[in-house]
Amino acid sequence: MTKLTRRATLMAAATGLATPAFLAPATAQTAPAETPPDRAPYRRLKLGDFTLTTLLAGTRPMADPQTIFGLNATPEDFAALSAAAFIPADASLNGFTPTLVETGSEVVLFDTGLSPEGITTALTAAGVAPEAVTLVVLTHMHGDHIGGLSDGATPTFPNARYATGKVEYDFWAGAGNAGFDAKVRPLADQTTFLNDGDSPADGMTAILAPGHTPGHMAFRIDSAGESLILTADTANHYVWSLERPDWDVKYDMDKAQAAATRRALFGMIAAERLPFIGYHMPFPGVGFLEPKGDGFRFVPATYQFDL
Ligand SMILES: [Zn+2]
Repeated sequence: MTKLTRRATLMAAATGLATPAFLAPATAQTAPAETPPDRAPYRRLKLGDFTLTTLLAGTRPMADPQTIFGLNATPEDFAALSAAAFIPADASLNGFTPTLVETGSEVVLFDTGLSPEGITTALTAAGVAPEAVTLVVLTHMHGDHIGGLSDGATPTFPNARYATGKVEYDFWAGAGNAGFDAKVRPLADQTTFLNDGDSPADGMTAILAPGHTPGHMAFRIDSAGESLILTADTANHYVWSLERPDWDVKYDMDKAQAAATRRALFGMIAAERLPFIGYHMPFPGVGFLEPKGDGFRFVPATYQFDL
């Protein structure tokens, strides 16, 4: 309130005009409808000739994270690993990070967040109109990935076609799932179904990575000799699931298969020293992996993609 009034005064002084009505104290007293984001909700990365943008479509606090990320860990081990990584064991903050890939001929959005509002706000902040998206790729059918597709009636991306895994689609089409039926099934006519190794667009290759869901897919992005993996929900936490790949995660439908997929995909990423973007890694969600003990240490990217 005080700050805004002062800012309005400074602006008025700078422009030589009276305080604009929208900055006047009476207007400022109206509470905002939403808490504004506390950081820019997008991060641009150069990868060969492509521009990638990670988009923070929302965050959500999680209480008692061991009941989500360490079902088969002892409380002592969960507390010790958390303390070693400088994070609390009794609280967590989950982020939702779709990735936009601009190739020059296509504008491809991987996953859509929880709601149209979340993804639209992040895209708009990044200077991209929802109308500009030409292809939406869904890694799997959980609500935090399909929620932004539409409000149940109006599609968020009116000019887009869609692509998703065939195994994944077929599973949820027979599951009686309200979210899938409301948001994904109505788009079937505009959807391409992918198998392992298929390409939704030039420079992009599907990698079947099952366990989290039956047909969950990661994607490899290649441009001008540079590569990056979108790991989607192969791991859902940068410490608990990467350093302990065998810890059971509540949201992994087949826990043993999810653990085997984590070891295989992240083992390849570590061995090839590739960058990756994880949908639930700490924003901006991009980093590298160093083999460590029984798993991997997440090494956040710094300026590698700005050069
Ligand atoms: Zn997810």
